[in-house]
Amino acid sequence: MSTLADDPTLLLTQDLIRRPSVSPEDLGCLQVIAQRLEAAGCRIERMPFGPVENLWARHGTERPVLCFAGHSDVVPTGPREEWATDPFDPVIKDGIMYGRGTADMKSGLAAMVTAAERFLAKHPDHKGSLAFLLTSDEEGPSVDGTRRVVEVLEARNEKIDYCIVGEPSSTKELGDVIKIGRRGSLSGKLTVHGVQGHIAYPHLADNPVHAVAPALAELAARTWDKGNDFFQPTTFQISNISAGTGAPNVIPGELKARFNLRFSTEQTVDKLQSTITEILNRHKVNYSLEWFVSGLPFFTAPGALSKAATQAIQELVNVTPELSTTGGTSDGRFIAPTGAQVVELGVINATIHKVNESVRIDDVVKLAEIYERTIELMLAK
Ligand SMILES: [Zn+2]
Repeated sequence: MSTLADDPTLLLTQDLIRRPSVSPEDLGCLQVIAQRLEAAGCRIERMPFGPVENLWARHGTERPVLCFAGHSDVVPTGPREEWATDPFDPVIKDGIMYGRGTADMKSGLAAMVTAAERFLAKHPDHKGSLAFLLTSDEEGPSVDGTRRVVEVLEARNEKIDYCIVGEPSSTKELGDVIKIGRRGSLSGKLTVHGVQGHIAYPHLADNPVHAVAPALAELAARTWDKGNDFFQPTTFQISNISAGTGAPNVIPGELKARFNLRFSTEQTVDKLQSTITEILNRHKVNYSLEWFVSGLPFFTAPGALSKAATQAIQELVNVTPELSTTGGTSDGRFIAPTGAQVVELGVINATIHKVNESVRIDDVVKLAEIYERTIELMLAK
């Protein structure tokens, strides 16, 4: 008789967690998954770039292409002594599995694999295609991962129509939140140039703190936009600021600051950059500024995929998901601009990146069923 302990999704989750694949390491995770998907009839393509392992797998040749996306890498454990168990030896206790990657996102990977195995066994001759885009670099710089695979696919005009990112999207109970977009993230590294001098002779110096303070006050107080139906308003935060030599009688010669904007689809990078430079210029700040765009905002209007996922969640766990755009960035940012409908749907995210990361084992089993039902609604004949 089978028990929860030998559920195939839980077994695969545990196998993946035993590989300490701290970003950008993969340590065979994608090989295990590739073998499973190949055995289920998928065509496998490995696309390593530098130290990063990537996997593109596809079953079928027609469109629409429904693709699962995810990552095999995990963040570092943090202080090992704060873990109650070995982070790379998954332990199940009272219905909860503990280990690094249990929630973000090895259980999600396992659920998409077993969902696909079951679906393909029942519907070998389905509509469209079922695909997988998996990488070992989501938690790191995210340069040689999903971004590069999407470039390869675009170059050969291989399209993804629908994409389910298996990131942990749920907050309190499985399926309560589906992400249908993410805010953009724009960072700036500001250097304000002044002239160092003696505090007693300020007319011979130029204090960069005084020069930039009114501009920073204006930036911090500014209302950038009001957001919209699906996005929170854009926010500006200063994360670091430093100036001064440590001596109490020296006017500093330079100030360095870092700031970040999380922005809605009401904004563009150009618009944000010109607003900020206009404010700095108006306050006559002498500065240099380096920009870093870590993600553009993306938004998928509710459509066929979010409808199918919602129906699957309602049927299997009796929850009606909220469609949301909150939280950090994800690899959906690289897939959405190709025109795909993208949703993120996965387990509860309360413990991700923390010590004693965990997942409820019932949720892992149910997630695989939700994925399978969603595939069925989208691709079964
Ligand atoms: Zn993740």
